[in-house]
Amino acid sequence: MCAIAAGRQGLRVVVLDHANKPGKKILISGGGRCNFTNLEIDFDRYLSRNPNFCKSALSRFTQWDFIAMVERHHIPYHEKKQGQLFCDHSSKDILAMLLAECSRAKASIFLNNKITHIEPDTDGGFHLFTHTQHWRCRSLVVATGGLSFPKMGASPFGYRLAESLGHSIVSPRAGLVPLLWQPRDKIRYSGLAGIGLITTVSSLGHSFQDDLLFTHRGLSGPAILQISSYWQPGSAVTIDFLPGKSMTSLIQSSRQGHPRMKLKTLLRQTLPNRLVPALLPRQWLDKPLAQLNTREIEFVGKQLHRWQIVPEGTEGYRKAEVTLGGVDCDELSSKTLESRLVPNLYFVGEVVDVTGQLGGYNFQWAWASGWNAGEMLGQRYTRTGGTHHLRKLKIRKKTQ
Ligand SMILES: Cc1cc2nc3c(=O)[nH]c(=O)nc-3n(C[C@H](O)[C@H](O)[C@H](O)COP(=O)(O)OP(=O)(O)OC[C@H]3O[C@@H](n4cnc5c(N)ncnc54)[C@H](O)[C@@H]3O)c2cc1C
Repeated sequence: MCAIAAGRQGLRVVVLDHANKPGKKILISGGGRCNFTNLEIDFDRYLSRNPNFCKSALSRFTQWDFIAMVERHHIPYHEKKQGQLFCDHSSKDILAMLLAECSRAKASIFLNNKITHIEPDTDGGFHLFTHTQHWRCRSLVVATGGLSFPKMGASPFGYRLAESLGHSIVSPRAGLVPLLWQPRDKIRYSGLAGIGLITTVSSLGHSFQDDLLFTHRGLSGPAILQISSYWQPGSAVTIDFLPGKSMTSLIQSSRQGHPRMKLKTLLRQTLPNRLVPALLPRQWLDKPLAQLNTREIEFVGKQLHRWQIVPEGTEGYRKAEVTLGGVDCDELSSKTLESRLVPNLYFVGEVVDVTGQLGGYNFQWAWASGWNAGEMLGQRYTRTGGTHHLRKLKIRKKTQ
């Protein structure tokens, strides 16, 4: 997006990527259908040590701007739920659109280019070295993403580069990631693997209502991925298996009409069969509703509405959709994404300490921050009438 915005304004743009294919994360995203944005982009759906930072870029390039681009390319899409927009056919449509726009903007993409190091130039530009090439550029935009999904080419390169140029990094950690059972819970609950249901999941003052999935190793599904970004090691996760209902009221009302109905019969009408015995003592499940005392009814309500676990940890970067933390926003301009410490250096996308919730928010941040940096670069060089130097130089025999 940055290359498109800058290239459209006449700047010479080169994208260097060490991957063998462009846009690998786009291709695997959204189960292969890319949840490319959300109809309701609220700023409070982003996590950052500076929660105001994302507002400027997201307001200048909105979800409607991206949707307009998608529509110009006649890509069919639909809203799945909660404003989440997905391609009807494939993520390949979004990648093809971006590549076509890059080509139209005359931005060149060089793949299989692992950048080994970068040196600031004395006149404000940068020298970039790959194994075989040496580039000199006036402005450098770092869009190297986070640490999630290392098999897709994720690397800490952006963080290391930022640090080497004096930037602070807000400690990275895995976000939108499945949670793991403690060893004793794994013995108790791994047999529930495969059960999925709508729940409300809460931790540390945050709540999400969405699908939850039991796995052999722990808990997953959208509700768990969402809460994982807010969860802290050692803290509890509370699960309401019957959001919007009251189990105690249901027992009270059912025992009027069906006093001899067993508790398990009632529960199986509302919950998956296999889940019920894992949550409540077997002897209670066989009791007729009329025989349950107040303490027992309250306990049933607590287990079903406020079930608590303390996860052992997360599945880590291998399975995380995003990386929280990154280049400290306080050292970047929120309007241009330019470094406040090193002129002509920009950071966009996931490498910055801005992370969205699940639902297309992360791509929207990547599109918006990239677009803003590209636009600002274009305006800057057009306004000053300056030329934008980008040169491929011969590799020097000896690089310092
Ligand atoms: C499985 C999965 C599903 C996802 N689904 C969605 C979704 O549906 N909706 C959504 O909004 N978000 C989704 N995300 C998150 C989203 O993919 C990212 O937030 C987004 O791709 C970030 O864009 P980026 O350009 O900042 O980084 P990336 O897309 O990670 O791109 C970084 C690029 O930098 C390159 N690179 C890294 N280091 C170097 C180096 N040293 N030299 C050269 N090149 C380098 C990489 O090869 C890569 O091409 C998903 C993520 C995953 C892992």
